[in-house]
Amino acid sequence: MRSLERNIGPVREAAGWSPSSWYERPQQQQPVYADAKELERALAQLRELPPLVTSWEILALKRLIADAAEGKRFVLQGGDCAESFDDCSSPPISNRLKVMLQMSLVLVHGLRLPVVRIGRFAGQYAKPRSADTETRDGVTLPCYRGDLVNGVAFDAQSRRADPQRLLRGHAHSAMTMNFVRALIDGGFADLHHPEYWDLAWVEHSPLQSEYRQMVEAIGNSLRFMETLAGESIGSYQRVDFYTSHEALVLHYEQALTRQVPRHWGWFNLSTHFPWIGMRTAQLDGAHVEYFRGIRNPVAVKIGPSVTPDQLLRLVELLDPDNEPGRLTLIHRMGAEKIEKALPPLLAALKASGRKPLWICDPMHGNTETVGGGVKTRRFQNIRAELDHAFDVHAAVGTRLGGVHLELTGENVTECLGGARDLTEADLARAYKSQVDPRLNYEQSLELAMLIVRKRGG
Ligand code: PEP
Ligand code: MN
Repeated sequence: MRSLERNIGPVREAAGWSPSSWYERPQQQQPVYADAKELERALAQLRELPPLVTSWEILALKRLIADAAEGKRFVLQGGDCAESFDDCSSPPISNRLKVMLQMSLVLVHGLRLPVVRIGRFAGQYAKPRSADTETRDGVTLPCYRGDLVNGVAFDAQSRRADPQRLLRGHAHSAMTMNFVRALIDGGFADLHHPEYWDLAWVEHSPLQSEYRQMVEAIGNSLRFMETLAGESIGSYQRVDFYTSHEALVLHYEQALTRQVPRHWGWFNLSTHFPWIGMRTAQLDGAHVEYFRGIRNPVAVKIGPSVTPDQLLRLVELLDPDNEPGRLTLIHRMGAEKIEKALPPLLAALKASGRKPLWICDPMHGNTETVGGGVKTRRFQNIRAELDHAFDVHAAVGTRLGGVHLELTGENVTECLGGARDLTEADLARAYKSQVDPRLNYEQSLELAMLIVRKRGG
């Protein structure tokens, strides 16, 4: 047992764990590198590069998550399904921050709770896939596993798992992080103001006047705060963003798992808040083993096939000391399944005395394929799953403490519906995602407003 830290504990080092102990366990969704020496050279370089976040920030987020689990904060986690190296440029990054900041203002105002903003960015470069290979016109190649692993173009050279991409992933994460930090330090002042919100879509909604009132009320509060505080309102302009990604490629994560001078134990310093995807959450698998020993707050995606018994064992492995803020469970059931699948899980955890943070991901259980093989999601299903989630938690006596969304600040057409009622014909116009369909700027803001409406604004 090591020294306890203020506000967090009791905690202890995970028995029999090391940053590489995952290697002895069954591994899912890992790239196959053709040349072990080439991989080792890249990893040796990666191990020397500076980390992307600090242990202080990580422990600060852990405390915020503990608060959210107690109902004192609400978590907004969102961003691309997968970042790409090509999109590591100014507009996509600042637009994504903008929409998340605006959504969070809607939520703060409507829920009367501080919001913890966590991006799916600065490292969301690896994807689990349902098949290892892809066949087109009789040609079979390895599947695309995200820019951290290989290229999306359908040719043998691009699809080769390239260790140099681990270094490029680190560099692109650092560039993203640097720009995000600079924008945040700059205060984002103008983005707070409803004058800078794009609200043309509102007139397409039957809830138009309600939405306008909401935005006007936010504007009034902001102006009131500014009048009180004078021109510069330091802490009010200062917004915090934390980062998260699916910690999928374990060689990469291990190389950024470090010890630091002032805190005991091991931290994954590639992100504040790594999560385990649904496809890699096996109890005896490599990912659960790796996550067991890091001190970050961690999350796991929970799908409809998980049983209460499996969930209890997972929680025991990842959070044996029931440490506040340590564990977040992100349920992603689908609008049709949530009412049946979720209550037994919530009830089992409640009965065990556990209080993880519960977050709803209403995206991944609602993916469907429409004409021409295009992957999409219907806004009404996303909304329905969220509505059900609030109701199911209320019925069981647990608390939904946040949402996890795939979104972009760009004006894409990837999800159907929303106030403008995007149709299948619209999908072709601006479908940019290489993987899952994202809510666009307008759909994201609308969803934030609907959450407020549901939860009592
Ligand atoms: C994702 O978050 O992009 C993802 C693949 O989710 P899940 O693991 O829940 O399917
Ligand atoms: Mn996705």
